[in-house]
This record gives sequence, structure tokens and C-alpha cells, in this order.
Amino acid sequence: MASQPEQPSRRGVLLGTALGAAALAAGAMPRTAQAQDTGSPAPPLFDPVGAYPAPPFPPQPQPWPGLQSKMHPVPDCGEKSYTGSGRMKGRHALVTGGDSGIGRAVAIALAREGADVALNYLPQEESDAREVIALIRQSGRKAVALPGDLRDEAFCKSLVAQAASSLGALDCLINSAGRQHFHESILDLSTEELDWTLKTNIYSLVWLIKAAVPLMPPGSAIVNTTSRQAYSPSANLVDYAATKAAIANMTRSLGKQLLPKGIRVNAVAPGPFWTPLQVCGAQPEAVVEHFGAEVAYHRPGQPVEIAPVYVTLASTDSSYVAGQVWGITGGSGEPG
Ligand code: NAD
Ligand code: MG
Repeated sequence: MASQPEQPSRRGVLLGTALGAAALAAGAMPRTAQAQDTGSPAPPLFDPVGAYPAPPFPPQPQPWPGLQSKMHPVPDCGEKSYTGSGRMKGRHALVTGGDSGIGRAVAIALAREGADVALNYLPQEESDAREVIALIRQSGRKAVALPGDLRDEAFCKSLVAQAASSLGALDCLINSAGRQHFHESILDLSTEELDWTLKTNIYSLVWLIKAAVPLMPPGSAIVNTTSRQAYSPSANLVDYAATKAAIANMTRSLGKQLLPKGIRVNAVAPGPFWTPLQVCGAQPEAVVEHFGAEVAYHRPGQPVEIAPVYVTLASTDSSYVAGQVWGITGGSGEPG
């Protein structure tokens, strides 16, 4: 195929003209306008509704925390498809829950966008994590594996310190780890289970952010993961939904609190996504079989379909975005 003549992209021209005079007059040039066209062919258009697997899904219970390599179908985290364009070049990211599902897709995307990445996951998930580490290294980026349990405050502190020291800096924190376990009745919700959900989803978020903030230079970004459950809670996810509402709320307050330090805090609110969390106790088996049927797409999202939102929120392109929650809920129209 003949190569196309080199010409400035529309985005490059817009950035160049809009930012140039005003930013220089203000004494700061937040980003360099780059006029470039890689010359690669445009990706083909495709119908998004029919693009990925739809229910019914086969029964596939797994013991917690689950492995995505054992799922049918295996979730698509962009291993073969995500193409970067340098949006995270020179950045240093810590991704929790980076072995599988949404965190894995984000870790792969960040690396292909040019970031070095530290991954946190549970020791039981080593085989999933090894695949992600290999993919990050294949992208030419540094990958650091930091397994451990986020329910432990001392571990959260040391995780952030180790991520920063092994990457050389920390300017991006993606909080994707989460615990979801259903109980049909509040009478079945033990204090141990309640503590497990709150420690994983809320306490660790506070501990990680507390440890990260003193290390993060202005321009850094934190992206949390809430859920549609924060706004439309299911009857059997009382504790989980409450933690996700808290994360959305914390994102809004921290968005305001940390902006004067130049740190942007935002969150993503996923609808149904096909990940291991769903097949190891998050939902009754019957719900897994029809997972995603209720939304406008009539199928769950694949992690690769949400990773670009995390990249956008983390990248300096989103310099005016803070304290926001971005809903990706399968066409339901639900806001974040
Ligand atoms: P996932 O199972 O692939 O990822 C969750 C990860 O959390 C696990 O891989 C594990 O590494 C980590 N984790 C859990 N407990 C931990 C602990 N104590 N210490 C350290 N790590 C721990 O599933 P996912 O769906 O990709 O989940 C990612 C996030 O997305 C979660 O916060 C989840 O609540 C949220 N979410 C998912 C959906 C969905 O439909 N899949 C919908 C809304 C929100
Ligand atoms: Mg996992």
C-alpha cells in the first residue's frame, strides 16, 4: 500500500493555534502541539452492538478472586487490538487490580500510550499478572509486579513507595481493585464480609491516595473506579453499592481538595463488564448467564471498550477535568 503524504492532523492544528499565543502569553506551555500523521491506515468502522460476545454465557463459577484465563469467553483487554498514540509518554503509573478485567485493559493501554507501569494484584492471580507484565514489556515499557493485599494499610503504603521508587516517579494512580459479593438478605451479611468489602473498596483507596499525594507532581492524575451501582443499587449488593457511592462522592471531594496541588481526581462508573469479578461470587450464576442483557447493547462491555476512558482522564489532554465521574453503562444513559 502506498504511503500517504505527511500532513498535520486536525487535532495537532487545533492545539497549535489555540494553545500557542494564549499559553505562551500566560508564561506556561502545558503541552507541545505535535503536527503528525503516522500514515497508518484508518481502523475499519464496525457495528459496536454486535462486535463482542452477547449472552447467554456458559456456567463458569470460579473460586474468588478468579482468573480471567479460565473464563469462557476470555475477556478482551485489548491484548491484540489496543494501539497507542503517545498520550501517556514519559508517565509513571500504578494500577491496582492490574492483572485482569478493567485494570488489565487500562495497564495495557497505558503502556501502549507510553507509560511505565507498576501492577498490583493478589498473589493468587500471578498467572494473569505475568501475561500483563509480558505485554507491557513487549510495548517497550517498564513493568513492575507488586502483588499484595490492599486490605492491609502498611502494604498500601509500601506499595505506593515501591511503585514510585521502581518506576523513578509516580504521576498516575489507577484504582481498579474491587470486591463485590452478593447477599440476598442483609441478614446474611456478616461483619467479616462487610469489613472485607469496605476495606478493599474504600479504606485502601484512602490509604493509597494518602501515600501517593506527597509523591505526585502537579499534572498527576488519579482515576478511581465506581459503578452504576452507586446510582442504581441492586437489592443484593447493599455493601458493594454503598462503597461505590462513597467512591463517587470521595472523587468529587478529593477532586476539589487536590486540584490546588495540580492533581486531578476523577472516576469511571462502569455498567456491566465481562471480567472475573462477575464469575466468582459477585452475582448469582443465573445473572452471569444473562449478564449484560438488560442494557441497550444487550451484552456486557469488554474491558478494552472502557480503557480509553481511563487513558483520557489520566492524560494531560484532560487538564480541565477534575472531580468528574464518567459513566460507561452500556447505553443506559445513566450519568456517572
Ligand atoms: P477483576 O476481578 O478483573 O478485577 C478486580 C481486581 O481487584 C482483581 O483482579 C484483584 O486483583 C483486585 N483485588 C480484589 N481484592 C483485592 C485485595 N484485597 N487486594 C488487592 N487486590 C484486590 O474485575 P473488574 O470487573 O475488572 O473490576 C475492576 C473494578 O471495576 C472493580 O473496582 C469493580 O468494582 C469495578 N466495576 C466492575 C464492573 C463489572 O461489571 N465488571 C462494573 C462496575 C464496576
Ligand atoms: Mg484478577
